[in-house]
Amino acid sequence: MLQLPLIRDAKNVGIMGGTFDPIHLGHLVTAEEARQQFGLDSVIFVPSGHPPHKNSQKVSDMEHRYLMTVLAVITNPHFTVSRVEIERSLKGPTYTVDTVKWFQNYFGPKTQVYFITGADAMLDILTWKDYEHLLDTCRFIAASRPGYSFSRLRKTLDKSISSGATILDRVSYLEIPAMAISSTDIRERVRSGKTIKYLTPEAVEQYIIKNRLWQ
Ligand code: NAP
Repeated sequence: MLQLPLIRDAKNVGIMGGTFDPIHLGHLVTAEEARQQFGLDSVIFVPSGHPPHKNSQKVSDMEHRYLMTVLAVITNPHFTVSRVEIERSLKGPTYTVDTVKWFQNYFGPKTQVYFITGADAMLDILTWKDYEHLLDTCRFIAASRPGYSFSRLRKTLDKSISSGATILDRVSYLEIPAMAISSTDIRERVRSGKTIKYLTPEAVEQYIIKNRLWQ
């Protein structure tokens, strides 16, 4: 399911969680920037399986999202993709806490796991399953475009957790110019026949055309 022999003894690993519907350059730049800034040995992209908060929303088939992610990361030796949430989604909703535990078990206690995702997604973290445990054992990197007001997120997260730390201690912020690109915008552009060239890797663009996604 997951081929990671080279990074088994990693000190710091990033888990890049997202729907990736589709993956775009903003996600890739975020992961690379996080890798550099936080000294991550590797970044593992985890396309969401059955996101608990998206029951009523239409999300593209997970195999399409997974394959587009594989195509997008193929040229970066520090990036890989995991099917861990996709496999688990057969049994019901997939929660980040279970995904993080899976990787913590895989790598062992000497490895620090970072969860990287969008700042807007993190606004709801207080509703996530076992969020206190998650924040106690994992570090978070919240990414957004420049000019995004992180103050709303800081206010939401300014809360103590049982270990005595505050959530704010566990979360770092990244401003990523390329995050002006969004998956929603790419889907809308495809629907209205506009170009998506240079917003996502060419292989992903070709995959979208070949499989007639959102047309
Ligand atoms: P979302 O609500 O679709 O996205 C919110 C914002 O964050 C969007 O602007 C999105 O941009 C951006 N974003 C999402 N993933 C990103 C990433 N990896 N890097 C940079 N920006 C990102 O978020 P989502 O994709 O559903 O959820 C994000 C992660 O949080 C997933 O791994 C999901 O499983 C997890 N989550 C867990 C729980 C839980 O355990 N209860 C609940 C909610 C979310 P784009 O649309 O352009 O990507």
